[in-house]
Parts: sequence; structure tokens; C-alpha cells
Amino acid sequence: MTILTTKTVDFVALSLMNKRKSQKEYRQKNKEKRSKQFKKWRTKNRDKEIERNKEWKRKNKEKVKIYKRKYYLEHKERDREKKNERNRKYRIRHNKKCREYGRRRHKEKMIYLEKNPKLKEKWLIANRENGKRYYLKNPDIIKKRNKKWQNGNKELFLLSRRATGQRRRTQSKDLTLQVIQQVYERNIVKYNVLVCELCFEKVKFGEDSLDHKTPLVRGGNNSLKNLCVSHRTCNSKKHDKTLKEWFKLYPKFKIKESKWI
Ligand SMILES: [Zn+2]
Repeated sequence: MTILTTKTVDFVALSLMNKRKSQKEYRQKNKEKRSKQFKKWRTKNRDKEIERNKEWKRKNKEKVKIYKRKYYLEHKERDREKKNERNRKYRIRHNKKCREYGRRRHKEKMIYLEKNPKLKEKWLIANRENGKRYYLKNPDIIKKRNKKWQNGNKELFLLSRRATGQRRRTQSKDLTLQVIQQVYERNIVKYNVLVCELCFEKVKFGEDSLDHKTPLVRGGNNSLKNLCVSHRTCNSKKHDKTLKEWFKLYPKFKIKESKWI
């Protein structure tokens, strides 16, 4: 049995200190060698290390959470830029795939929002604000994109302008582009060409307008059922008459419908 005197304790402490000091010196001198050794060891024991890390993470969930949060806050800006850059490159490489994915997600979101009117209202407001902000930031990009879309979708563009005009004039926000499109499609399917449903003559694109069979001021609405294609001139001539009243006034027009069917 060793009897610990103050002297031996001092001696032990001193030799321990020396040992640590020399170890530290050794480490500093052989940094590269040690790192190489460590790397070699790590590749050899990779699976073991991964397993050990996992185990540690499992046991220290709270700590991991705090570390992650801290790391995120410290590297937020740098990581965001890196991430954006990476995403940008990915999107360019997988353009088609990304578009399809985006469209699918949007559809799913819309279906979800359709079921939750309150959320939809919120989303609409936020979306509008985002759109405005984006436009103010990138007016040239938006203008260019719009122009490109307009050139590729001339008829649809005219329709959408019509929808906007109708919405403004009649102050009816429920009139959608889809409904207007359906009105035109239905007309063309029925008569083979675009035909004015007030005088039953052919309508050139540009001379057309949307007519409310029962005008809004007479209690009509913006549903597909209440809308039809007409000449602008016929539309203004009809004014606030209902379709029934119109054909009562001009029975000669109604007869002409048969020549298209
Ligand atoms: Zn007409």
C-alpha cells in the first residue's frame, strides 16, 4: 500500500502536468500527421462512428435541437445564399420536372384551400401582397414574362382582358376566366364557329362581347348558364332587356339560329 504524503501528491501532480504539457506539444508539432492518422482511423471505423453518433443523437435529442437551432441562426444568411444558388442550378437542369411538380403542388394546395374558405381568404390576401411586392421589385421580369405569355396565348389573353373588363364594369368579382372560356367553348362547340347568340350571325374575334341573358341589374348572375357570346353592338342594343324580351322584340333573329345547327 502506498502512503500518500504531501510530497507524493505533489510529485504525482507535477508529473501529470508535465505529461499533459508534452502531449500538447506533441499534438501541436504533429498536427498534420495526427489528422492523417485520424482520417485513416475514421475511414476504417466509419460505420462504427456513424452508429455511435446516431446513438448519441438519440440519447440527446434536446441538445441536438439546441445545436441545430444555434447552427441555423449562425449560418442563416450564408446557407440561404448557398441553398438558393443550388436550387437555381437544379431548376435550370430539371426545368420540366420542376414545372410539373410546381403545378401539381399548386393544384393540391388549391383543392385544400377550396375546402377551407377561411384559409383561402387569408391566402388570397397574402398572395396578392406577395405579387405586388414581387412586381415592384422586378417590374422588367414581370413585363417580359407577361408579354411572352400574351404572344403565346393570344386568344386567352383577349379573354382574360375581357374578364377583367367585365369584372370592373359590373363590379362582379365572381366572374372567372374559366367561366368566360367555357362560354366561348360552348358556343363554338354548338355552332362550329363563334356566333352571336342575340342575332345569330358570325362573330369575328374583337367584335365579341359577353352578354348576360338576364342582366345583372335585373337580378341575373355571372354563372355559365346566364352568359352568352354576342356582338358588342347587339349587346349594347339589348341593354337591360332579358333574352326573352329581346327575342320577343326581334323574332327574326331567333329563327336564324337553325342555320348553324
Ligand atoms: Zn349580333
